[in-house]
Amino acid sequence: MPDQPQPSLPSGSSVAERLAAVRARIAAAADAAGRDPGEVRLLVATKTQPAEAVLEALAAGVDLIGENRVQELVAKAPAVADRVADGSLEVHMIGHLQRNKINQVLATATGLETLDSLDLARAISDRCVRDDRTGDRALDVMVQVNVTGEASKSGVVPADAGALATAVAALPGLRLTGFMTIGARLDDTSEQTVRAGFARLRAVRDEVVASGAPGTAGATALSMGMTGDLHLAVAEGATVVRVGTAVFGPRPTQPAR
Ligand SMILES: *Cc1c(COP(=O)(O)O)cnc(C)c1O
Repeated sequence: MPDQPQPSLPSGSSVAERLAAVRARIAAAADAAGRDPGEVRLLVATKTQPAEAVLEALAAGVDLIGENRVQELVAKAPAVADRVADGSLEVHMIGHLQRNKINQVLATATGLETLDSLDLARAISDRCVRDDRTGDRALDVMVQVNVTGEASKSGVVPADAGALATAVAALPGLRLTGFMTIGARLDDTSEQTVRAGFARLRAVRDEVVASGAPGTAGATALSMGMTGDLHLAVAEGATVVRVGTAVFGPRPTQPAR
């Protein structure tokens, strides 16, 4: 197997074929970094994809999907409800969440990767506590960090991430599992800059886990890397890569992120 990431397969390929290619890319990147490929989980980003395409991915062994928009999350929830109920599928919200949509997310998602304020965290935790979702049933959350500092991107700045994570970890309705970032775009900058952003997220994670603060010991996940840069993210320690285009082909329109 070549060391270089392989290009995406042509658009005539099936979702299953494309998934196999993505898994091979992840494995090659892990090998190159001296990591166990089993440490890197694939989250399939399903935004703009119809439920049929999502079901194709599930049939090919996908056990973690991510949605950006609450509306789409809710629309596709019935198609995946059985798999969520039997525990064989996790559904993460990976887009920005507005407070007025908290209930809809709690009804359909198993995790939220885009927590970026203590106000939002408290509101979600309160709701979980009212629903008796604490302890093992608490919502899995990641703190989203804006490692590039671009104003257009969501997330807390790295300097504030540790304090937010520690506060979130102490809330009864939430279980802090780690950190997420949308890195710099390879189109706009060098591989070095993209990697530096991912390394920054890892440093935030390491500091929080080392702090010994209550609820932080399990906050080891690093959700970073997408179709274009997953090899760089895996090299910097990603434990979750979020991939859409390489699985489904190009989206008709690129939603704002
Ligand atoms: C769309 C999206 C992805 C996947 O991006 P691709 O380049 O299509 O692989 C990952 N993370 C987030 C937050 C996204 O919105």
